Amino acid sequence: DKYVYAFAEGNKDLKDLLGGKGANLAEMTNLGLPVPPGFTITTEACRAYLRDGKTPASLDAEISAHLAALEQAMAKKLGDPEDPLLVSVRSGAKFSMPGMMETVLNVGLTDASVPGLARQSGNIRFAWDSYRRLIQMFGKTVCDVPGEAFEQALDAAKRVKGAHADVDLDADDLQALVDAYKQIFKQHTGRDFPQEPREQMELAIRAVFESWNAERAILYRRQERIPGDLGTAVNVVAMVFGNLGDDSGTGVAFTRDPATGEQGVYGDYLPNAQGEDVVAGIRNTIPLQDLEGLDPTSFTELMRIMSVLEGHYKDLCDIEFTIERGKLWMLQTRVGKRTAAAAFIIAGQLVDEGVIDPDEALRRVTGAQLMQLMFPTFAKTDTQPLAKGIAASPGAAVGKAVFDSARAAERAATGDKVILVRRETNPDDLPGMIAAAGILTSRGGKTSHAAVVARGMGRTCVCGAEALDVTDDSFKVGTTTVREGDVISIDGTTGKVYLGEIPVEPSPVVQYFEGDAAHSVPARSGVSREDGGLNASGDTAQSPLVRAVDRALRHADEMRRLAVWTNADNAADAGRARRFGAQGIGLCRTEHMFLGDRRELVEALILASTSDEQEQALAALLPLQRADFAEILQAMNGLPVTVRLIDPPLHEFLPSLEELAVKDAQGRLGSREKELLAAVRRTHEENPMLGLRGVRLGLVIPGLFAMQVRAIAEAARQVKQAGGDPRPEVMVPLVGAVQELEAVRTQALDVIRDVDPGVPVPIGTMIEVPRAALTAGEIAGSAEFFSFGTNDLTQMGWGFSRDDVESAFFGRYLELGIFGVSPFETLDADGIGRLVRIAVEEGRAARPDLQIGVCGEHGGDPDSVHFFDSAGLDYVSCSPFRVPVARLEAGRAAL
Ligand code: PEP
Ligand code: MG
Repeated sequence: DKYVYAFAEGNKDLKDLLGGKGANLAEMTNLGLPVPPGFTITTEACRAYLRDGKTPASLDAEISAHLAALEQAMAKKLGDPEDPLLVSVRSGAKFSMPGMMETVLNVGLTDASVPGLARQSGNIRFAWDSYRRLIQMFGKTVCDVPGEAFEQALDAAKRVKGAHADVDLDADDLQALVDAYKQIFKQHTGRDFPQEPREQMELAIRAVFESWNAERAILYRRQERIPGDLGTAVNVVAMVFGNLGDDSGTGVAFTRDPATGEQGVYGDYLPNAQGEDVVAGIRNTIPLQDLEGLDPTSFTELMRIMSVLEGHYKDLCDIEFTIERGKLWMLQTRVGKRTAAAAFIIAGQLVDEGVIDPDEALRRVTGAQLMQLMFPTFAKTDTQPLAKGIAASPGAAVGKAVFDSARAAERAATGDKVILVRRETNPDDLPGMIAAAGILTSRGGKTSHAAVVARGMGRTCVCGAEALDVTDDSFKVGTTTVREGDVISIDGTTGKVYLGEIPVEPSPVVQYFEGDAAHSVPARSGVSREDGGLNASGDTAQSPLVRAVDRALRHADEMRRLAVWTNADNAADAGRARRFGAQGIGLCRTEHMFLGDRRELVEALILASTSDEQEQALAALLPLQRADFAEILQAMNGLPVTVRLIDPPLHEFLPSLEELAVKDAQGRLGSREKELLAAVRRTHEENPMLGLRGVRLGLVIPGLFAMQVRAIAEAARQVKQAGGDPRPEVMVPLVGAVQELEAVRTQALDVIRDVDPGVPVPIGTMIEVPRAALTAGEIAGSAEFFSFGTNDLTQMGWGFSRDDVESAFFGRYLELGIFGVSPFETLDADGIGRLVRIAVEEGRAARPDLQIGVCGEHGGDPDSVHFFDSAGLDYVSCSPFRVPVARLEAGRAAL
């Protein structure tokens, strides 16, 4: 095995092996860009180390060979007392995990080589500063010395000197600080700071390997759904120095604005600073544009390189660079993270610029991003903002201010909405950032830790609100003080921070859909829409975002094989879903129509002891149901409406056993309630999800399903007679055996014949009991369509209750990696998905024109949509708000 690659040996497609940073350093090296020489130790070496507790036998020799080549390229030797080569040892996994793993800079510097570095650089202060940084980083990350110990010593040194910033400390101060740091190091580790350059390097490499399993890294991966077994690569890179004086510095740049997609010069620059200072938000940066005045040559070179990179990667790139005495060096690039809005806008821009084609543009946006764009924003307000910071991650967040990560997590766990307020965040704040509705900091730019992590998680974030004076338990702006629990509102789109609650309003994307403007091109299912397209109506001024979203959705509609239907059980939802592009109703849950005022009628049905009473109760329900269906059929005129016959566990219709029993014990029950109590006792089930539900109920209470079918057929007749185009379908829930379906079907056909609605009424079944999936061939003989009820199929296939288990043990299962994600959220393709595939195959074999869809929650989940596409379904049906998401993902699945 080869465990070490020189930069010139790699390329951008080797991210699995070299990590993102290593692969892109290799790519830039091969593009001829100024990358400091170095090499990458592979993720495979990391995995071996984490598995065996030691590095692979051949690694040492390989590192030696690559180090020798590096020394030759730099004409210096690692840690040489006369003229030391220093290296950085940097983590870099396949997926970017900003700040979650370790990096050690200035490796190779020792007591012996500080004078050499001072001589060579002509800067004594710089040499001591580099050494103290090494001891600090190395101590903290390699030897677990608490970071505060160093910070306190640094603060003390500044106090003694009366200095504000670390740049105010001179060489003597820093030399004294190095002594203090070495003592701290010895105190905490029981050994002297290592004076052997190669030993420093090896310990640093191991520390980077181990940082893969740091708690915050594990937490971040779980949040971002990054697999836990990938490991990180390690990049050993010749140091270049941004802290050599005012002609040096370090910065971050984007080829486009990562928040809006606009082209221009975006980034932050920090003169006379090293490495991670910018990302850590330790000092406030200056806009990249100002570099033009400071160092026009480097600025021009940087602009040239940025355009080379964007041309090469054909996408927005972000860049870390350092200027060492007027010489520009590229330390990192990657296809940059961006907001959801920018993802759509940039994809559209790149198509317009002829850089990518519409398919590629569609690949670059996701349903998850679209979902984010459907979040509300703040309404226009006269309230004066308290402060304005940098709009780092969009959205509107309102919550109680909390100033500590752990407190934020605690309060959020009790249901509070919180805004985490910090001077700046660091990776230890991750739990609070996850728990918070929004994040607010007083320091740091668009690339600070808070901004990068918040964007990645889709959390609203305002950073660098410098007017805020943030302490550990409050912040002050002018005369206003905000303490824990005070409500604030932060606008991640404008950067404004308000005291109190600002009302929120729907997203422009949702408003656009609601405006009846977005219309899908019909997919393969051949369902046509009677209303015209967007262009036909000559749409007026739209924001660039709305235009970009619309464009992506149109292309998705052109490409997709899957149709997208919706789950809706009233006319309002149906109408909205239709405006969102739904091509039918795949699930109308009729039990939702039996609650509220109608509950008494249902109770009467359950309490009925004679068939007369039963018929009376049903007769009272019939007109109500007919009106329900007529409304929905009208709202979906011309599109299929799949009405599922009633499927509730019976207890949902009756008052709670406990309540009645308590009242009974107190002697407070009337005669009707006594009857009810008896009925509740009679029908009580230990496990109602596995009890008298769905088709079972329909067969036990004769006339219930028949009443519903009659209501559907009569509603269809009525709508048709009024000139409409009703397309009802009847769906039977919880079927496990063809005999159940046959019994219902025979009865339903009689009713339909009797009513004579004047339109066909197909009868089909849900496939949601595993036995139904396994006998799909037989069942297809009696069903004109299948619709997978993947909620129940998951519940019954796994044998766990959908109502109880998510809070009971899913957290633990996710922690243990048994699940990557809840199987109620994303379909378990290997297990439950197999039941789906079997049923599709055997169902279609028995009835080639069988129409097949899915109406479980998974129908609107991006990953699951890809699965259903691959399984050959005709449509997915999901909640109205997920319809655009499903359209987009169905399009992406078809690419
Ligand atoms: C299902 O089980 O997936 C389904 C759609 O039905 P319900 O959620 O109503 O049980
Ligand atoms: Mg179900």
